Amino acid sequence: MSPTDAPLLQVTGLEKSFGDNRVLEGVDLSVRRGDVLVLIGPSGSGKTTVLRCLNGLETPDAGVVAFDGGPVVDFSAPKVSKADRTALRDRSAMVFQHHNLFPHLTVLQNVTEGPIQAHGVPKADAIARAETLLARVGLAEKRDAYPSELSGGQQQRVGIVRALALQPQLLLFDEPTSALDPELVGEVLTVLRELANEGWTMVIVTHELGFAREVADEVLFFDEGVIVERGAPADLLRAPKKERTRRFLNRLLHPLDGPDPTGTSELPE
Ligand code: ADP
Ligand code: MG
Repeated sequence: MSPTDAPLLQVTGLEKSFGDNRVLEGVDLSVRRGDVLVLIGPSGSGKTTVLRCLNGLETPDAGVVAFDGGPVVDFSAPKVSKADRTALRDRSAMVFQHHNLFPHLTVLQNVTEGPIQAHGVPKADAIARAETLLARVGLAEKRDAYPSELSGGQQQRVGIVRALALQPQLLLFDEPTSALDPELVGEVLTVLRELANEGWTMVIVTHELGFAREVADEVLFFDEGVIVERGAPADLLRAPKKERTRRFLNRLLHPLDGPDPTGTSELPE
């Protein structure tokens, strides 16, 4: 396999516990350059923890996180070097469910802070890059506004620009539209769709199934810290093979139906 055919990211045997709570029980996934991987699954199944482990916000207990071209970080090893951690963190940038913008900084300052502080980008370059990116998501005129002066959708678009300004190889999105009023979801999904079309490599936790069907190259269904099922969106979302996947998708599509009155909805393990 030539280097360019290798997946950009390969994760093997990722494990993470918080105290007695085993949150990830051996997660394997890989993402090819330019692909969009969508993670779905019930609340508490470990989706956010996976993203946080990839972005260095959590330290896995075990497993290997390997980027093509490095770093290759083995968390099962007795010690992980600071250089490896930093290299890993710099490969990806994360967009959170809540935008997490600094309220006391302007839009421009929010976007330039990371490149200037963390990457040592000269201020003038960081500003030029930020202005270009803000224009691309239709927010050029908001550069000097404060987050509180923006709508939720605009705030989230600034959050995306902030991630892009770090020039990562991989973009991680953690339910980027789930905190938005319904009428604001579309504008954020439009930006994500454009990024996908431009060839960005992305891992997106989302329950916008129509969007997932359209942009995902692969969908992974998580439950209780394991990947229960994975496949092309047309297969997994339309005709899941596993009962757990089917039940989850049914609940998502028919949230008002309530618990199964027959009491048979708990699958035997
Ligand atoms: P999801 O994103 O799928 O809803 P999470 O990855 O956020 O799931 O959480 C998985 C489990 O890990 C949950 O039981 C959650 O309570 C627990 N958890 C997540 N982060 C922490 C933490 N920092 N400390 C303790 N428990 C945590
Ligand atoms: Mg989550």
